[in-house]
Amino acid sequence: MEISFAGKRAIVTGAGKGIGRATALALARCGAEVVAVTRTRADLDSLLLECPSIKPVCVNLGDWGATEEALREAGGNVDLLVNNAAYATLQPFLEVTPDQFDISFNINVKAVLHVSQIVARGMKARGTGGSIVNISSQASQCALQDHTVYCATKGALDMLTKVMALELGPYQIRVNSVNPTVVMTKMGRLAWSDPGKAKTMTSRIPLGRFAEVEDVVNSILFLLSDKSSMTNGVTLPVDGGFLAC
Ligand code: NDP
Repeated sequence: MEISFAGKRAIVTGAGKGIGRATALALARCGAEVVAVTRTRADLDSLLLECPSIKPVCVNLGDWGATEEALREAGGNVDLLVNNAAYATLQPFLEVTPDQFDISFNINVKAVLHVSQIVARGMKARGTGGSIVNISSQASQCALQDHTVYCATKGALDMLTKVMALELGPYQIRVNSVNPTVVMTKMGRLAWSDPGKAKTMTSRIPLGRFAEVEDVVNSILFLLSDKSSMTNGVTLPVDGGFLAC
């Protein structure tokens, strides 16, 4: 399936590493003008070396005011948004701390709401519609050991996706999420590098393996593109069947 984003402007958050970085590069390869948002300058520098057409924005999305300022210019005229940046921490339920709860919800839910507001206001004003993809997780729909806060943020994100789809649909702005299983990025390694622990997860995935970054990117591109033009408000598992069982 040929997908072209020629003439489209895209923002990808958390584009410094992992899935976000690969998504930004894939969008650029498909012809989009890409704005890459992340908080580590060195990641943006190396991204630009790889793809000089990408526009870098360095900001901590957990800072509401700084985000407002950083996206004031870059947030206009956007057709495509990928809310990918997230924070993960592992704590047993009885040991969850208020700071980890606040940091997680601030990045994984509040920042998604905020960046989406900025972008969707521009889309609405221009009347050209758009497509937003939120990167959720299988953890939104299945309890995972020591993932109390992460699961809760991704559950909240799925519902945010649905309400955004409801309210933004009349402006021809589609909002969907992809919900991957484990991907061995920096975040994935945090929880699943131990082979024994990894096996407890892969044994529950009918396809018997974790997802590759490319598996997730392909689903993101599909949901951003006109190939999914009647798809709105879905949470698309990229999980080898984990959530089906
Ligand atoms: P990585 O940790 O590899 O990359 C996350 C990126 O987001 C980094 O560039 C990071 O920057 C950036 N980021 C994090 N917090 C902020 C912030 N406050 N402001 C700006 N940028 C920020 O994660 P993945 O690629 O693995 O994850 C991408 C998405 O996929 C996330 O939403 C995650 O929840 C989801 N996901 C991941 C899975 C996995 O197993 N990897 C499974 C299911 C879902 P920095 O490094 O500088 O902090």
